[in-house]
Amino acid sequence: MSSRIPGFFKLSVDERRAVVEERTGLPEGALAAAGERGLDVVTSDKTVENVLGTYALPFAATLNVQVNGREVIVPMVIEEPSVVAAASNAARMVRDGGGFVAEADPPIVVAQIQLVDVEDAESASERILARRDDILAMADAAVPGLVARGGGARDLVVRVLGEPSDRMMVVDVLVDCRDAMGANLVNSIAEGVGDELALLARGRCNFRILSNLADRRCVRVTCRVPFEALATEELSGADVARGMEEGSRFAELDPYRACTHNKGIMNGIDAVVIATGNDWRAVEAGAHAYAARSGRYSPLATWRRDGDHLVGKIELPMALGIVGGTLRVHPTARLSLAMTGVTNAAELGMIAASVGLAANLAALRALASDGIQRGHMGLHARSVAIAAGATGDLVERVAARICELGDVTVDSARAVLAEEQARSDKDTIAVAE
Ligand code: NAD
Repeated sequence: MSSRIPGFFKLSVDERRAVVEERTGLPEGALAAAGERGLDVVTSDKTVENVLGTYALPFAATLNVQVNGREVIVPMVIEEPSVVAAASNAARMVRDGGGFVAEADPPIVVAQIQLVDVEDAESASERILARRDDILAMADAAVPGLVARGGGARDLVVRVLGEPSDRMMVVDVLVDCRDAMGANLVNSIAEGVGDELALLARGRCNFRILSNLADRRCVRVTCRVPFEALATEELSGADVARGMEEGSRFAELDPYRACTHNKGIMNGIDAVVIATGNDWRAVEAGAHAYAARSGRYSPLATWRRDGDHLVGKIELPMALGIVGGTLRVHPTARLSLAMTGVTNAAELGMIAASVGLAANLAALRALASDGIQRGHMGLHARSVAIAAGATGDLVERVAARICELGDVTVDSARAVLAEEQARSDKDTIAVAE
């Protein structure tokens, strides 16, 4: 299977569905069914509270992605124009350098048990560590289904927090969540061992919940892009690569730039996380906390020239699941997962991070050459045309015209639309006469 499908963007939606079904082995008609229905209102009403309906977003495919030699057509759910096109385009450049090379940590998530009113934190730590095996067994007893699948509590770490006057400590239980995102599982463990830990600490158990800073569950992805793949009409690949490396340094040195750099990365990652029914708030929280781990907010991905290649690297926590959570109820999320062909959660994390790196590559290349607006406004122009009231063929015509005019605004689109409509009215009259 190849995820490279030249001319894919020119096909109709139905034709695209047929190609993706054929390439990914999805049953014929599966994308039409799930892609259009999504989550129904009855199920939604059972999922969250005070439901009024459902809310649809575009569901699209990023092409050209190769992770550790495997081809993937990546499902994306996103409303922002140009992200899917940019990621697909960047992934094609990465293919020229051998695709993305990725690795993932074991799926360890931390259950935190806060202990307060602890008189003597040092001796409390000793008593807890002396009972380590019993506590881990108690933790496992809270999640028998996970243990049956090879997961469960692996270790615990005791930390004293603040000053002695705070009388506070935290016990972190490290839990192997296998293919689940793990929040509910880990919370069950935190609640399962909290009282026993409080007894051992001779204090009181307060908060018991997972940490979303899943820094023991990171993925790392690298890619090598040949300079020639980066060239534009005006600039050589070497010049673009130099500008991209300078842009990477900018983000490494300035948190104001790092924030926007990381936003571009999360454009790609969130879209995959949402499409596959995962908790994007958890991934976002983990990513940004990780970006600030040194005490200064930093870029999640960096770029350097190496000979005649530009090398990109990304590292971030990726607590994703391919079981449980939203996947129980959302048919399109299940279909998205099937589309990726992943067999475990780590693979999904590596794909999401690869798409994040692709999105970053696209943004940095644009910033180092034409600027972000040319490509972005071209695609954004279609939404502007729709906002101005264009429908059908008029969307493309109005979008193209406001781009030519260099005025991608709703006012300009309205004026162009009025001209186009007047012209087509005249044509109709002419034909009628
Ligand atoms: P879950 O509650 O659905 O638990 C996963 C289930 O899948 C378990 O019953 C487990 O036994 C089973 N399972 C089957 N096959 C498995 C396999 N191969 N590996 C692991 N488990 C397997 O889901 P969860 O992952 O524990 O929690 C995720 C949900 O929790 C998300 O919906 C998230 O939004 C929500 N949540 C998040 C937070 C947070 O991030 N702070 C807090 C609370 C809840």
